Amino acid sequence: MTNFETIIGPAYLVAAVLFILGLKRLSSPATARSGNRLAGIAMTIALAVTLLNPDILGAITGARLIPIGTIVIGTLIGGGIGVYFARTVKMTAMPQMVALFNGMGGATAALVSIAEFTRAIGETGDAGGAGQVVSIVLGTIIGAISFSGSIVAFLKLQELITDRPLRFGGQSWFNAALLLGSLAVGGIVLVGGSVPALWAVLGIALLLGVTGVLPIGGADMPVVISILNSCTGVAAALTGFVVHNQILVVAGALVGASGTLLTLLMSKAMNRPISNVLFSGFGALQTGGNGKGAGVVRIVKEASAEDVGVALAFARNVVIVPGYGLAVAQAQHTVRELADELEKHGVSVKYAIHPVAGRMPGHMNVLLAEANVPYDQLAEMEQINGEFDNTDVALVIGANDVVNPAARSDTSSPIYGMPILDVDHSRNVVVLKRSMNPGFAGIDNELFYRDNTRMLFGDAKASLTKLVAAVKTV
Ligand code: NDP
Repeated sequence: MTNFETIIGPAYLVAAVLFILGLKRLSSPATARSGNRLAGIAMTIALAVTLLNPDILGAITGARLIPIGTIVIGTLIGGGIGVYFARTVKMTAMPQMVALFNGMGGATAALVSIAEFTRAIGETGDAGGAGQVVSIVLGTIIGAISFSGSIVAFLKLQELITDRPLRFGGQSWFNAALLLGSLAVGGIVLVGGSVPALWAVLGIALLLGVTGVLPIGGADMPVVISILNSCTGVAAALTGFVVHNQILVVAGALVGASGTLLTLLMSKAMNRPISNVLFSGFGALQTGGNGKGAGVVRIVKEASAEDVGVALAFARNVVIVPGYGLAVAQAQHTVRELADELEKHGVSVKYAIHPVAGRMPGHMNVLLAEANVPYDQLAEMEQINGEFDNTDVALVIGANDVVNPAARSDTSSPIYGMPILDVDHSRNVVVLKRSMNPGFAGIDNELFYRDNTRMLFGDAKASLTKLVAAVKTV
């Protein structure tokens, strides 16, 4: 063992500990940035130390045939693409970027599994014990499903294909047959050591990723991405076993576990079991959404920015409820400006954060952190819901489903049972949105017709700018 090789194990251990500490710090907005940094340092250590592996170091010393230039160029291209997207992506497009990156991880796991199998069969005619081949087959299946499923999720979120659920008769049976088929052909790989059979496994699993995600509506894509993310983690961990790389096993297991937990948290926050997300075709029906219900024209009360400005400035307390529309309008800085202005008028301001407001977990926290909103002003749903009874004004900005009282009372509503922010309990509710169009769930919102609700129509950023000006004049 060379001097270089002796540091691989300890360095991987340090990287693993940093990954875990980084993940832990991601659990609070106050420590998330440093958590991200720690995980980045861990990944840098893991990548650098992996180059010391004899198979790769051999390339540096010329003992093997992988030119070091290939590794450097590949790293620069991949890293460059990553940096470019991370810097330019819009906050609202983050889910599709995560889908793309996640898909690449799945593809890598599948291809590394196949490459390792092909190499071993070519060199010795034997791919190793049954455990090794089972890891290769499962890594290929899970990685391929994750890749093609993530690409479909990306296409839906980017609206390059329809985001409605695409279904055909017997789809669940077809998908079950594909899954069983990939496992059966995987059995042939195990018994016969056949490389073409492993490519067939890849093909079947790729198809399954596509037909598995097509019947799920665009609205549920963030949950699907989280599921596929945990799949990529599992596939990477299996690949770690295949290429005997401990840090890949650890990092893959961490991604698998955190993806699973995130999926469960999102399902809980929407009060929908995972099976409902995967198989119900949620979002296929568009009900209401034009301001009319059951054929009866219903009236909403429209307010001017000046009126709302006065109401806000004279309130004792205001609870701001951000939603997806705030992210679309990129109004996070303007909302902070409004809050600052209100505080100058002696108004107490808090932000109520629903766990699935926006299109990805933590969407609102990230958005408000960007505008340096103090963390102690952010209140989670459980904390704030008891306070709405004593709230003078609830200012709902681009949020819809997460404040829809139908979730509490209308058993026929698709979002019935989803915990919501009880803004309707406030003395006054002001809703900022552009029209009476529905939100993500595609349903009308009872809140907009309530006596204590007023609508301020317009783009959230434009409306907030007017509100800042109005409050300043009071
Ligand atoms: P919604 O999608 O329910 O509503 C967003 C509202 O924002 C729309 O009604 C829209 O109305 C308005 N809007 C859009 N653009 C603008 C703009 N520029 N200015 C002002 N308003 C705008 O969002 P919520 O945050 O309330 O709810 C999130 C939904 O996403 C929930 O149904 C949740 O289950 C779902 N979801 C969330 C996930 C997550 O992890 N966060 C994961 C999976 C699903 P208009 O067009 O009239 O302006």
